[in-house]
Parts: sequence; C-alpha cells; structure tokens
Amino acid sequence: MLPAYISHPDCLKHAMGEHHPECPERIGAVSDMLLIKGLLDFMQPCEAPLATEKQLAQAHSSLYIRSIAAQSPKQGTVQVDPDTSMNPHTYRAALRAAGAAVLATDLVLTEGAGTAFCNVRPPGHHAEYAAAGGFCFFNNVAVGIRHALTVHGLERVALVDFDVHHGNGSEDILRDDERVLMCSIFEDKLYPFCGNTPRGANMVNVALPARSGGEPMRQAVSEQWLPALERFRPQLIFISAGFDGHRDDDMGNLGLVEADYAWIAKQIVAVAARHSQGRIVSCLEGGYELSSLARSAAAHVKVLLGMDD
Ligand SMILES: [Zn+2]
Repeated sequence: MLPAYISHPDCLKHAMGEHHPECPERIGAVSDMLLIKGLLDFMQPCEAPLATEKQLAQAHSSLYIRSIAAQSPKQGTVQVDPDTSMNPHTYRAALRAAGAAVLATDLVLTEGAGTAFCNVRPPGHHAEYAAAGGFCFFNNVAVGIRHALTVHGLERVALVDFDVHHGNGSEDILRDDERVLMCSIFEDKLYPFCGNTPRGANMVNVALPARSGGEPMRQAVSEQWLPALERFRPQLIFISAGFDGHRDDDMGNLGLVEADYAWIAKQIVAVAARHSQGRIVSCLEGGYELSSLARSAAAHVKVLLGMDD
C-alpha cells in the first residue's frame, strides 16, 4: 500500500481554551499544506482507531489510564496540569492519537505501507508512565513502540525525537528497555527542564544551546545519533516529529528552518533504508506557529515519501 496518512476529526474537538497554543487548527494547517503540496496524492488516508486499554497499558499504568478516563468532563473543562486541560472530547481525541500510532505500526509492518505519518493531537511525548503534562495525555509513540515489540514481536525499535522540548515522557516509559533506543535533541534549559542526564543506558540525549541554529543540531545528529542508530540496527524507527524548534515558533529558540527538518528526515530515512526495510512511523508532537508548522511538516513528509531532491 501507499505510505499512510493517519488522522481523525475527533482530534479537532479537543481544545484547551481560546488562546492555547496547542490548538485544533494545527491539524488543518498541516493537512492543508500536505494537500497543497500534492503530497497527499501519494498517501493512503486512514482514520485513526481508538486505542484500547490493553494497548495503552503497554506504556501506562492501568490506574493512570482509568484516572484520565474518570477525569473526562461531561461539560466544561478539567485542568490536569497548569498547561494541560480536558474538555468533553479530549479523552476520545487522546485515544485516537495513540490509536493512530498503533494503526501506523500495523500498516507499516504488515501492509507494506513503508512509512506512515500521524497528523494527530493531543501530542504525546511529555506523557509519562503515570502522569499527564505538557499538553500530553497518552504517549502515542511509546504505545506504538510497545505494540511493535509485543504484538509484532520486533526485537529492536528506535525512537528519534527532534521536538524543541525533551521527550521526558518517552524517556520515563522507555528507559532501560533494551529493545528500544531513544535519540533526542532538545533545547537546553527549556521545559520540561530535564534530559541533560539520560535516565537509561538506551538514551542518547543531546541538549542544544538556545539560538544555536541548524549547524549544532546537524552535528549532534551526525556525531551522536547516527553512530548509535548504526550500532543498534533498528527494525523500525519511530519519529516524535515536533516542529516547535522552527525560528518562527516562539515556543522555543533553536532557530531551525524547513531545510533542517528535511535534512534530519533524510538521515532517518537513510538509517531506515539500511536497517529497517525503510519502515518509519512518524507522529506529530509540537509546532505551534501554524505557518512554519505546516511548511516544516510538509518538508518532513516529502522526505519520508522519498520525493526530496
Ligand atoms: Zn515541544
């Protein structure tokens, strides 16, 4: 099958207030740009299913899963942390976002989709084993990774995370899981203010100074991510694709541009071609300035589709 494009209308119903940066419009900004650029012509559109409790429990405690379900309001909003809240549609959107990663894994591993891009929200990489936070409820990539390991029986799965914020939730869930290698770059001294000291031997964390631009990022990937990925020989690569390090996005200050996101995708595609039969599952994380988010995501997907020049 064609590379998969996975999303769901439920992801637009979750909203955390009028001025919240993690807004429903993010999904449409990305899908519109993929459409305008002609990229969706080369992808199979798929609706994200609801993740099951059993699938979520591969990455989260059952108590936590039930507490999120129990907090889901019938009306109004419930604040889960200072930046993160639930409306009546949030729980379902969160199940769709995690379900997208599960479906993407299935399509890439058994249907020959090659690659899959999940245009979903809420994002996931700040969600820990038993804690929501940073706009995240369930850790979408971690749920997908554990699905690949336990249901499909893969032995080695890599996660690369280039969001401007460190994926503390993914690290919390996946640390010391020898079947997983996690490579992360993030802006130093930025939310969630951790990651400088990796919490497990399977973590390659690189903190980049603010306003450093694309060159130090490329150097960190070349010198630290790529040798680790070569040694690990992943059978499948997940991407926590956050575009909030773009210079137009005031959520962070890394100063990256579209060409940097295309470059990093090219490196991942090359590793996947060597070790993973080209298999990549990419899930949207951050990216809050709608225009640069859309352009960066399109540059990213274009490379995943092998259409870069
Ligand atoms: Zn972020």
